Amino acid sequence: SHSVHKITSGQVVIDLQTAVKELVENSLDAGATSIEVRFKDYGLKSVEVIDNGSGIAPEDYDSVGLKHHTSKLASFEDLSTVLTFGFRGEALSSLCALSEAVTVTTATASEAPMGTILELDRNGRVKSRSEKTARQRGTTVAITGLFRPLPVRRKELERNAKREFGKALNLLSAYALVPCAKENKGVRLTVSNQPEVGRKTVQLRTDGTPSTRASISSLWGPRSLENLVDLDLCFQVQTEKSVLKRRTITEGEDSGTQVRVRGLVSKFAVGCGRAATDRQFFYINGRPCNPSKVQKAFNEVYRTFNATQSPFIVADFILPTNTCDINVSPDKRTIFLHSENNLVAGLKVSCILRSILHLI
Ligand code: ADP
Ligand code: MG
Repeated sequence: SHSVHKITSGQVVIDLQTAVKELVENSLDAGATSIEVRFKDYGLKSVEVIDNGSGIAPEDYDSVGLKHHTSKLASFEDLSTVLTFGFRGEALSSLCALSEAVTVTTATASEAPMGTILELDRNGRVKSRSEKTARQRGTTVAITGLFRPLPVRRKELERNAKREFGKALNLLSAYALVPCAKENKGVRLTVSNQPEVGRKTVQLRTDGTPSTRASISSLWGPRSLENLVDLDLCFQVQTEKSVLKRRTITEGEDSGTQVRVRGLVSKFAVGCGRAATDRQFFYINGRPCNPSKVQKAFNEVYRTFNATQSPFIVADFILPTNTCDINVSPDKRTIFLHSENNLVAGLKVSCILRSILHLI
């Protein structure tokens, strides 16, 4: 029933930042190289994500907003090796259930420069389909009145609008820096806000260069590059017995897992820029995530070296996909790793990290 749907949807899209994240991930999954995010009134009025990705084919119009409809997963076995951000087909259907209105404007290469506007109803069904409208290849998803169907949640969003907006911006920064992980694929990202009163302002902009340094420079200015050094570590992690069993491998044949950590970190010299903990970005295989214990450990180690501030960190943990269970938590920010204790034990950030870290 509709109310059951509302409850489960609420777990996928828990706040403004997860709503935005789902939309941006869909754009990235569609191969977009340019993504524009337009907030109106800090997202209270609407959020619009405009991309130049593959677009949605007309035969898929009726299913995009339906629960568990995804174009990204061929079989259940694929779950262990998914490379796309989405695969559950829950985001758009959740957003439909949790918003006042959801509008999708899309064109594939064969329809462009003409596209179609789809209005989806609360159940994700196509309520109306426009005549052709001008649209280059790509997709625009506009969400109006997020959480209006849930008055308590809506009140909360209104009360904390600027803070929630700030969190969404921080998450978007993490996606702007993803090129460090997925090499040779820079994304041009523009984020703007149009407040209720006053002028529209650009909040973030990257030029699409596939370089983390270039993205950092365009996000926070060239001075923020001072004192940054490359982070590139490799180490071996033994697979845990429970995983061996699950994957029916015996201990003898297991050679462990190669882990690589790549990114940038500020030197722990005094006065290493204005890095604060909101300038710390962690990824697993290019997926932004919050491994809070790793983050805590990094900061603690810095403190033992007399650093007065928290370091600036961009760190991508590159692991074989069959060693991590991604997307286990509904918001996909918590990534579960097989062998996490072993991985953590092997994580020694050169001579900086001596302590045993615990991922997650
Ligand atoms: P998932 O990403 O898990 O497949 P979603 O609910 O996020 O599920 O999206 C449903 C489907 O809608 C996707 O599988 C995709 O086919 C299509 N879709 C959504 N957003 C876009 C987009 N920006 N560009 C192209 N296709 C999209
Ligand atoms: Mg998705």
